[in-house]
Amino acid sequence: MALDKADRVRVGSRRRQQDLPDTPAASTPEQPATRDAVPAMTDLLPAAEGLLDQLHSARIPITVRGMAKQCWRCGFDDLAVVLVHVTDEFGVYSVIEACKDTPLAYAREILVRARHPLIASIKVRRSKTARETYLSNGCNNCDALYGAFGLGEDVAGVQANEAVASLPILAETERPEIEWILLAAERDGLYDG
Ligand SMILES: [Zn+2]
Repeated sequence: MALDKADRVRVGSRRRQQDLPDTPAASTPEQPATRDAVPAMTDLLPAAEGLLDQLHSARIPITVRGMAKQCWRCGFDDLAVVLVHVTDEFGVYSVIEACKDTPLAYAREILVRARHPLIASIKVRRSKTARETYLSNGCNNCDALYGAFGLGEDVAGVQANEAVASLPILAETERPEIEWILLAAERDGLYDG
C-alpha cells in the first residue's frame, strides 16, 4: 500500500510539472503546488482520471426557467427563478430545482451573465416561517420572500404533470458539463457523507 501511495505521489508530481512548465511552484518540490483547483486529482485512479479528462472540455446546453408567482404580500404579478435543466431534456435526471442555496446561486450566476433583470430579486433573506436565512427569490415590487418550500412544491407539481417545458425561459447558455454533474450530485445528496 505504501508503494502504491508513493507511486501516486510521483505520478501526481509529474503531471503537475507537465501541466505547469512555467509555474515556479511546480519546479520547487519543497513548496506545495499553488494551483488549488485540482490538488485532489493526483489521488484518482486512472479509470476515474480518464473520465475526468473526457469531462474536461465537454460542454452542455443549460436552460434556466422561472414560474409565474403572485406576491403573497402586495399582490404583484411576479416571476420567480425555479429550476435549471439540460436544454430540451425534461426527465428527473435532467432537471434541478433551483429555489434556494447553491442551485439558485448557480441559476443567478447564469442570469447575471445574461443581464436578466430578475437577478435584482434574488437575495439572502430571513424566513420567519422556516427560521433560517437563505438565498431566496423575492417580490420585485415589495421584496417579500418567496419561500423555497412552497416554490419547491409548485415545481414538484409541474414536474409531476410533465409541464417543465411550459415554464418561461429566463436564459439559455452553454456550460462545462462538470458543473452539471456537481449540481446533480448535490441534488442527490452525495455530499452528505
Ligand atoms: Zn410584493
